[in-house]
Amino acid sequence: MALMASSASAALVPFNRISGGTNKWSKLILSRRTGISFSMGSSCPTDGARYIATGAIGRNSGPGVAKLSEGKTEPQTYSWPDKKKPRVCILGGGFGGLYTALRLESLVWPDGKKPQVLLVDQSDHFVFKPMLYELLSGEVDAWEIAPRFLDLLTNTDVKFFKDRAKLLHPSDHLVAEAPKGSSCAGTVLLDSGLLIEYDWLVLALGAETKLDVVPGALEFALPFSTLDDACKLNKKLRVLERRNFSKDSLIRVAVVGCGYSGVELAATVSERLQDRGIVQAINVDTTICPSAPSGNREAALKVLSSRKVQLLLGYFVSCIRRVGDLEASGHVTESVTALNFEQCDFDRYILELEPAGKGLETQIVEADLVLWTAGSKPLLPELEPCNKPHELPLNSRGQTETDETLRVKGHPHIFALGDSSAFRDSNGRLLPATAQVAFQQADYAGWNLWAVINDRPLLPFRFQKLGEMMTLGKNNAAISPSFIEGLTLEGSVGHTARKIAYLLRLPTDEHRFKVGLSWFTKSAVDSVALLQNTLAKILSGS
Ligand SMILES: Cc1cc2nc3c(=O)[nH]c(=O)nc-3n(C[C@H](O)[C@H](O)[C@H](O)COP(=O)(O)OP(=O)(O)OC[C@H]3O[C@@H](n4cnc5c(N)ncnc54)[C@H](O)[C@@H]3O)c2cc1C
Repeated sequence: MALMASSASAALVPFNRISGGTNKWSKLILSRRTGISFSMGSSCPTDGARYIATGAIGRNSGPGVAKLSEGKTEPQTYSWPDKKKPRVCILGGGFGGLYTALRLESLVWPDGKKPQVLLVDQSDHFVFKPMLYELLSGEVDAWEIAPRFLDLLTNTDVKFFKDRAKLLHPSDHLVAEAPKGSSCAGTVLLDSGLLIEYDWLVLALGAETKLDVVPGALEFALPFSTLDDACKLNKKLRVLERRNFSKDSLIRVAVVGCGYSGVELAATVSERLQDRGIVQAINVDTTICPSAPSGNREAALKVLSSRKVQLLLGYFVSCIRRVGDLEASGHVTESVTALNFEQCDFDRYILELEPAGKGLETQIVEADLVLWTAGSKPLLPELEPCNKPHELPLNSRGQTETDETLRVKGHPHIFALGDSSAFRDSNGRLLPATAQVAFQQADYAGWNLWAVINDRPLLPFRFQKLGEMMTLGKNNAAISPSFIEGLTLEGSVGHTARKIAYLLRLPTDEHRFKVGLSWFTKSAVDSVALLQNTLAKILSGS
């Protein structure tokens, strides 16, 4: 807390691990040195102003809106409402960030110690990613699994800014050299130009699908990681379904990667397309979900086979091309010519598959849609290069290394959790990038922030593996709880158990209640419809 970013930054030199490009900081330092700061006011915006951040409503209303004059690019320093209370900035409102904010809100704080909490996310809604598949099957509505932050935070003191974290400038590694009277442990510059000074930072920006791994993937494959991705895929499927309505040709979907995500996607899409389409799932391993409990894997294999999903195991995709581009370039091999492109009046792709091991031949797969689920890339804001080396310690995957209390190594004022962080358990094993891990870490991050602000000892994070769950389509899922060795709940029992488990994990009591009511109503309506159908069949004698 006793650090001043602007004065420390003068003594910093460029570092080499993550760099921030040109020195955008100089303008900022200048403005702060000359005492010119653009603090946010609560006054109403005037004409010609550009709004750069949104404050939450209800108890969150107040100085949440900042304005920049048209065209102005100078950073504005966010003016925290209270000059004395600790300032906690949380970057990323997913399982790690949002749940840390809610945890901080639920703790009991001594007088004057409750921190001011600012949550920043580039999107205006939280996404419960494990249920994105249900948007494709129509089982859930978007509001149920992607509620708006403003609604979730209405009855809290947490402020929310919809903005993108761009540059990070930590100075908590300079504790020994910090001049007296320094006023923050670092700063974050947002895309809009807003500059946040913090005492404590929580880094929880998650990860994105890594697409730039083979030629053509970035241009032609669809990732499945965000609400936008799910909506885009839903739209594409609808277009293909409409287009193929009166045709005999099948809709061809290729799913790259057969980890949990690829298998759940293949199961959901194949169920949706039924006999109008064919799903091919490609995996470099010779099995699906290699690290999953065998019960889940076997349940998934059964379902995929019943839906005629073709598994191409032991292959990696070496390249994806669009059919039209191929023909134009004359790059048509014998195996490609063998495919029938006669009705090709829309985009269609071919994937070239190379065998990962011996005994398999190169393959060509044709697809109307390519869904990419293999590999992920952690998201972190760039670090601003300064005059002194400072860096966040990253592992080979690009995740931030933390100590056992979830603080970034060498940065006592930064906590990191979720997919963008690397936490090793007591055996030195890296924890997986899952919601289960991020959710549990949020509990500890919240508690440890309380402890550090109140000069109490911090708790070492201990992950409790509860089991693994996967959806296999409407009314079908597999669950292997880790507390009962060898047990797998499958089919509708697994589906109900998974839905209840996720309902309990949704953020806030109010949201859980609304979603619970909605799911209950939907299942009651479905049951009545099923009963009516059954009765109608019996009465008609069929
Ligand atoms: C389709 C799918 C299914 C999954 N199913 C499961 C499952 O069944 N079980 C399980 O345990 N895990 C599952 N996972 C993994 C799980 O969702 C992640 O591990 C979890 O979301 C990680 O939490 P997080 O807080 O690190 O990141 P996220 O939940 O991804 O949140 C990160 C947040 O940061 C925001 N953000 C990113 N960059 C910026 C920026 N520069 N500025 C501002 N905001 C930014 C994003 O908008 C996002 O809201 C699934 C993931 C996917 C994609």
